[in-house]
Amino acid sequence: MYPLQTAAEFLATALKEFSSPALSTGATLDGEGRVIVESDLSVPGHPNIFVIGDLANPNANGKNSLPGVAPVAMQEGRYVAQLIEQRLRGRTVPPFHYKDRGSLATIGRNAAVADIYGIHVSGFFAWFLWAAVHVFQLMEFENRFLVVMQWAWNYLTWNRTDLLITHAPPSRTPSKETLHAKTEKTIA
Ligand SMILES: Cc1cc2nc3c(=O)[nH]c(=O)nc-3n(C[C@H](O)[C@H](O)[C@H](O)COP(=O)(O)OP(=O)(O)OC[C@H]3O[C@@H](n4cnc5c(N)ncnc54)[C@H](O)[C@@H]3O)c2cc1C
Repeated sequence: MYPLQTAAEFLATALKEFSSPALSTGATLDGEGRVIVESDLSVPGHPNIFVIGDLANPNANGKNSLPGVAPVAMQEGRYVAQLIEQRLRGRTVPPFHYKDRGSLATIGRNAAVADIYGIHVSGFFAWFLWAAVHVFQLMEFENRFLVVMQWAWNYLTWNRTDLLITHAPPSRTPSKETLHAKTEKTIA
């Protein structure tokens, strides 16, 4: 553990509703609502405020922005941690650079696509690889164990409730009974 007694603030959350501190700093958002950050992932004009993960767009001024995937978020997290550590020692670090080792995406039961160092695989092997990599990347044995157990249960029971919207959301339109009750109350 390092003494993080700095003014550094982390915005490591993919906030859906964007009333976050980033906006109060005057940060600029891209078309997808991500914060345009400097090459060291700090908010422009605020070197101690960092945005990482799905919420950050580090390449707005040139190349294409990075994809919203887990490896990007993890590398950015490690980078900012190292940056703060080095700053505490009075050193600087080079700009963030994403190392693209490939992509993994599951597209269904026993089905995934993988692109590892330019090698493309799909089907069950890619799906197994996807699962193994994701479990391996989790922190602590307890989390890995719990996720494996949960996945195994869902796999064996065909439980897909976490992934599918199987019913319409509750209607905001009041029912006839509610309207009737309100009308009666108003009249009374
Ligand atoms: C359905 C789905 C499938 C995906 N599949 C893949 C895949 O196969 N491979 C891959 O690489 N990437 C995949 N991704 C993308 C990957 O999950 C994200 O890119 C990654 O999780 C981004 O990390 P993050 O830390 O920016 O955000 P998250 O991982 O979303 O972390 C944000 C955290 O902030 C918390 N939070 C939110 N609001 C608040 C608040 N107001 N206060 C405090 N905490 C808050 C959330 O609970 C959450 O824990 C998938 C994403 C989705 C949605």
